[in-house]
Amino acid sequence: MISERVRNLKPSATLEINKKAKELKAKGVDVINLSVGEPDFDTPEPIKDFAIKVIKEGFTKYTDTAGIQELREAISNKLEKENGLSYSPSQIVVSNGAKHSLYNIFLAILDPGDEVIIPAPYWVSYPEMVCLAGGVPVFCRWDKNFKMDMEHLKFLINRKTKALILNSPSNPTGIVYEKAEIDSIAEMLIKSNILCISDEVYEKIIYDGKKYVSIASHSSEMKRNTVIVNAVSKTFAMTGWRIGYIAAEKEIADAVSKIQGQTTSAPSSISQKAAVFAIKEGQALYSEMVNEFQKRRDFLLKNLPEEFFYPVPMGAFYLFFSYNEMDSLTLCKQLLEEKYLAAVPGVEFGADKFIRISYATSMKNLEITVDRLNDFVRENK
Ligand code: PMP
Ligand code: GLU
Repeated sequence: MISERVRNLKPSATLEINKKAKELKAKGVDVINLSVGEPDFDTPEPIKDFAIKVIKEGFTKYTDTAGIQELREAISNKLEKENGLSYSPSQIVVSNGAKHSLYNIFLAILDPGDEVIIPAPYWVSYPEMVCLAGGVPVFCRWDKNFKMDMEHLKFLINRKTKALILNSPSNPTGIVYEKAEIDSIAEMLIKSNILCISDEVYEKIIYDGKKYVSIASHSSEMKRNTVIVNAVSKTFAMTGWRIGYIAAEKEIADAVSKIQGQTTSAPSSISQKAAVFAIKEGQALYSEMVNEFQKRRDFLLKNLPEEFFYPVPMGAFYLFFSYNEMDSLTLCKQLLEEKYLAAVPGVEFGADKFIRISYATSMKNLEITVDRLNDFVRENK
């Protein structure tokens, strides 16, 4: 009954483990859920109030397929002001979260057999989405800093390569690419005429005063070869509102809009208005949350067992560690069964000796987490 395409599709590990952890919690098990990556903060009150007002005013009908003009203008202004990038509203398409934007892009650009290079460790959904869209995921190795190994990248590029996914700050490692590294990647992509799908959903969750650099700002050539993907989900603690977007060359934006016109139509009218409000208000709504994430990261760095090995996260809200060369499924299983800590095995991210914890949870939970992790290490030396 079920198509081969879907039979071959893996369920999302991040969402599956989150579901399992919630079930255990509902049964009264004292589990700490470090699995899913979503801000634990509530959506800021002014955004919620604005959305309620919009509902009362009756803004509750279909909108333009690519998103309301007002939102695309707000995104265009944001890109100009915050990233120094000029995109007209007609180059922007709003979708149901960054996940939907990404899937639309793959549908828009991939013919059967086209390859997409995905640097490991990668977010769980990239390879599956590429396969669903008929493409072939090809994995690039990481270097000693957990960034893509440039020699390997060069080796992987061939006639079938259509795109490279760049995710900085990264899920699951939290690494952030420096300007010089972005420049080398851009030069290689321009030379080979390869698209960069730049997943910038953690753009604002960045630490130690680091400045975010989008690969599209490298040069006008690179901008033409880039599809920016972003969302209000993480920045404004709006994961459930489902608003993401792309900014790209008009040909790509039109293709994505055409797909959307025949499949999902535009996302929720109410969420779109709420996103206009959030994007226009900007930093005032998220700076406190980012400060809090940094405090939590610093707390973990100070208190995690020193036997753990990990790249220091400079952004996002994940820590990706290995312990004693244990394979990731065993380590996650033991942590869940013995210490009631729910984490995601790295094998799902293409790194089977690591596991991912999300520190988008309260400080109190993190205090319990480090106690349990230190106990675990003492008991499993
Ligand atoms: N890209 C990355 C790297 C993510 O971690 C997520 C979070 N699931 C997404 C895209 C999708 O975000 P959204 O909730 O806006 O669909
Ligand atoms: N980005 C989050 C994560 O990696 C959300 C869950 C998902 O969509 O995969 O946990």
